[in-house]
Parts: sequence; C-alpha cells; structure tokens
Amino acid sequence: MKLPSFEFLRARSLAEAWALHSDAGGDAVYLSGGHSVVPSMALRLQAPSRLIDISQIAELHGVELQGDALRIGAMTRHAEVLANPLIARHAPLLSRAAPHVAHPAIRNRGTIGGNLALADPASEFPAAVLAMRAELEVMGPEGQRMIAADDFFLDLYETALIPGEVLTAIHVPLPPEGRMFGFDEIARRRGDYAMVGVAAQADLSDGVVSDASVTLFSVGVTPMRATAAQDALKGAPLSTDSIARAQAALATDLDPPDDPGFPAERRLQLARVLLGRVLTRMEAVQ
Ligand SMILES: Cc1cc2nc3c(=O)[nH]c(=O)nc-3n(C[C@H](O)[C@H](O)[C@H](O)COP(=O)(O)OP(=O)(O)OC[C@H]3O[C@@H](n4cnc5c(N)ncnc54)[C@H](O)[C@@H]3O)c2cc1C
Repeated sequence: MKLPSFEFLRARSLAEAWALHSDAGGDAVYLSGGHSVVPSMALRLQAPSRLIDISQIAELHGVELQGDALRIGAMTRHAEVLANPLIARHAPLLSRAAPHVAHPAIRNRGTIGGNLALADPASEFPAAVLAMRAELEVMGPEGQRMIAADDFFLDLYETALIPGEVLTAIHVPLPPEGRMFGFDEIARRRGDYAMVGVAAQADLSDGVVSDASVTLFSVGVTPMRATAAQDALKGAPLSTDSIARAQAALATDLDPPDDPGFPAERRLQLARVLLGRVLTRMEAVQ
C-alpha cells in the first residue's frame, strides 16, 4: 500500500534528533529499522508528518562490556543480537529469543531499540530484558535516565519513554557463573509472533534455587513478571515437584485476555505447559 506523504530527516547527533522532534510539535516519529513504523504507516495506523532517522547516531551503536554490565546499543540489529558472541555469553536470553523474531529479512533491518520502544506485548526481546533484569538507558534534552526493565513497559505499546526521548542502550547485568537460562515460545508458524512465550533464568546454590526470574509474553498488554512462579521455585532444588508448583502458581500471576479464537483458559494452559518445558530444559552458558 502507498505511504501517506511525510518529511524524512536524518539526525547526526542526539541533540539534532531532539531538536527535529521538538520542531515538529509532537507530529514526528523516530525511525530505526523501520520494520514497524513503515508497515503501520502503510496500513494508515499512523501518519506522522516527519520521520527522523536516528540510525547514524554514534551513541546508539556498539556492544561492549562496561563495568559489571553488557551495554548493547539500541541500533543493534536483530541479526547481530543472534550472532554476537558477547551477547551469547553475557545476555543469552536475547540470543535465544532472536531466532524466534520474524524472518532473516526483518532481522537484518529491525533493531533491538526499536523493538523495545515499540513494546509489542507479543515480542520476544521485551520479555528477555525483563527476565535478565536489564536497565534501559534513555537520553533526552533533560539528560540521561536509567530505567529498570520492570518499570519500562507500562501498557499496550506504551513505555516509560517521554515524547522526544531516545532509547540509547540496554544494560544487562553480567550473570554469575553457573546461572541457568531458558527461552521458548509457542507460535502458529515459525517466525510468527508468539501465542505464548517464556523467558527464565535461575541461580543455584548447593543445588537449591537461590534466585529465579520468570517472565511471560503474549499473555497480556505487556510482558509480565511471574512473581508467584518465581517464589515457588526458590528455596528448593529445580525438580519435577518445584516445576509443578511454579506451573500451578501461574494461575495467580496471569489473567490472560479472553477472545473467541483463543480463550483465556487455553492460553493459561499453554503458558503452564511452556513454563514446564522451559524450566525442565534450562541450561547454563559454558
Ligand atoms: C512481517 C513482520 C514480522 C515480524 N515479526 C516479529 C516477531 O515475530 N517478533 C518481534 O518481536 N517483532 C516482529 N516484527 C517487528 C520487528 O522486530 C521490528 O523491526 C521491531 O519491532 C521494531 O524495530 P525497528 O528497528 O524496525 O523499529 P522502527 O519501526 O524504526 O520503530 C518502532 C517504534 O519505536 C520507535 N523507536 C525506534 N527506535 C527508537 C529509539 N532508539 N528510541 C526511541 N524510540 C524508538 C519508533 O519511533 C517507532 O515508534 C515483525 C515485523 C514484520 C514487518
């Protein structure tokens, strides 16, 4: 479908991006990979008068160790998330999530920053950053803010970003030795958005789970932390019994949407099955 007319401008710095955004009086949209913005304009879901390309801004690029965290620039494309050895070692839930994100053509253009800023509740990366307790680095004319992933996803396609602010990077705390990870989703076809997805990590101390982080996606308007399931895992070995307790606890954590094609009870049952599968297959990164 033909796009509505718009003005295209490329920002070379964050200051320029903010100024171009402010000039447009709220009628501008940042463009990273364009794989969500452009289709939604073609479908007439939005018609901003100005698109501001932020892909050339230096602060948004690069994947590097910074102190006790891995900093992943917002412009890191999905294909690089899949291939980058630092991400595989220190942020393994992202590299496990990436093969489930669409298909290679989209992974070659789509960016992790655009994906998180869009906050689609069926997206894989938001649940992964939530499970890894990442922090999101955000910069606006007022300065820099670090936002915990738990506080970033507010509602359907709504984040803690203030209009004009740019998501510049994701900071993932370096995992301790032996941390276990698991990620999987159920989709109608490979590459489709998930019907239900799970991202989880757990630390063991003397064979007992000392900490667990479990998130689900495509079960509500945002990716969700399953606190009752996490609590059910803590203080016991990771076993058939503790996994069954975590699966049962999902009834407390989730209140999935009900629609005629996909009743809430079926979605909850799929979430229980998937959680059991993910927890049973969790493994540590070598
Ligand atoms: C056919 C198809 C299938 C797909 N399947 C999946 C899938 O299975 N799973 C999945 O997760 N995604 C899927 N996607 C979406 C894809 O991953 C998108 O690329 C991604 O969600 C958005 O990233 P982008 O870089 O393209 O962002 P853009 O489209 O450029 O931007 C998306 C939104 O984020 C804002 N934005 C972008 N970057 C920033 C930033 N740094 N700071 C602040 N705001 C910013 C933009 O203004 C816009 O509102 C699919 C897309 C298509 C076309």
